[in-house]
Amino acid sequence: MQNKTVAFSKDASNLFFHILTQCNLSCSHCYINPDQHGRQTLSIDTIRQWLCLFAKKAFQTNLVFLGGEPTLHKDLPAAVKEAKRLGFHSITIDTNGFLFHDILKKISPDDVDVISFSLDGATCATNDAIRGKGSYDAVLSGIPRARKKGFACSMIYTVSDKNLHELSRMPDLVASLDIDRFFIQVIGMRGKSAAAGKTAQVSKTLWLSVIPEVARTIAQTGVIVTYPKVFLDPEETFACAGMVADNYFVFPNGRVYRCPLCEDYPLHAFCIENNKIVAAPPVNETHLFDLSIPEGCVMNKIIQPGNLDYLADGKPAHRIACCMLKQEIRSQV
Ligand code: SF4
Ligand code: SF4
Repeated sequence: MQNKTVAFSKDASNLFFHILTQCNLSCSHCYINPDQHGRQTLSIDTIRQWLCLFAKKAFQTNLVFLGGEPTLHKDLPAAVKEAKRLGFHSITIDTNGFLFHDILKKISPDDVDVISFSLDGATCATNDAIRGKGSYDAVLSGIPRARKKGFACSMIYTVSDKNLHELSRMPDLVASLDIDRFFIQVIGMRGKSAAAGKTAQVSKTLWLSVIPEVARTIAQTGVIVTYPKVFLDPEETFACAGMVADNYFVFPNGRVYRCPLCEDYPLHAFCIENNKIVAAPPVNETHLFDLSIPEGCVMNKIIQPGNLDYLADGKPAHRIACCMLKQEIRSQV
């Protein structure tokens, strides 16, 4: 079993491209915030032009098409084919499982590396309470349909206090689905989660007592499992991906963030104007990245301090890692 922290690298880039914010679901933890991210659906011409902005480093860039629900965009197949033509290192479609516009018939496994399905409960009751009626069945029928056509599939499970209790039931479900990778995410207190105040992150004790064990169990079946580090070990060095990695989160209103935790605020580092990337005026997220605080991630302290604890002397009990620092477990080296 190989268990490693995935180090940040400037040699690999990640482009998270939200091509629309429209969605058929209304998940209780949805991070999309139309006031901040726009309501528009990008035209295929604009998608092509914006992909070209990142084409210089396409060979080392992992591209993820997102929404909203990206398969609601009728031109997603054309967008995927353009990304392929430009030579992106990998192409992923993140979907809620509904696979609109017959997407599986309009692209091939040669076009995309992975179709990634979001599921937030091992049971229909828990998942659909979070993600909406029909979403559990959509994922559980969508994965076999995609696999039958030869697409590689992965799954994302976003952990909160509403579904942690079902994570230990996921290994059996995952084993039945023939997926390659399983991603555990931690719910971010932004978008609807921040507004509703009804969903919470889980404590350090709960996180550490459940997540690594479930990850190991799933990895034993041959599925590669990735989960966020969240709580740094005392000997680990803190690093902010905004300083040492190359990530871009692009939204349909032209905002380009380097840090997903900043997405509820007009703190984006760049914007796309007239099909050019320009630096956003100060103050923006880049002015926060090098602030050094004993709690670790500065944006975490600002927007989701509920995961911090302090000792009697006022010092933090632990440091919070960059939200993009991942632990990866796989059964074979
Ligand atoms: S499927 Fe994704 S975009 Fe749609 S509501 Fe749920 S979290 Fe938001
Ligand atoms: S999550 Fe924190 S550490 Fe990571 S990029 Fe954002 S500000 Fe930096």
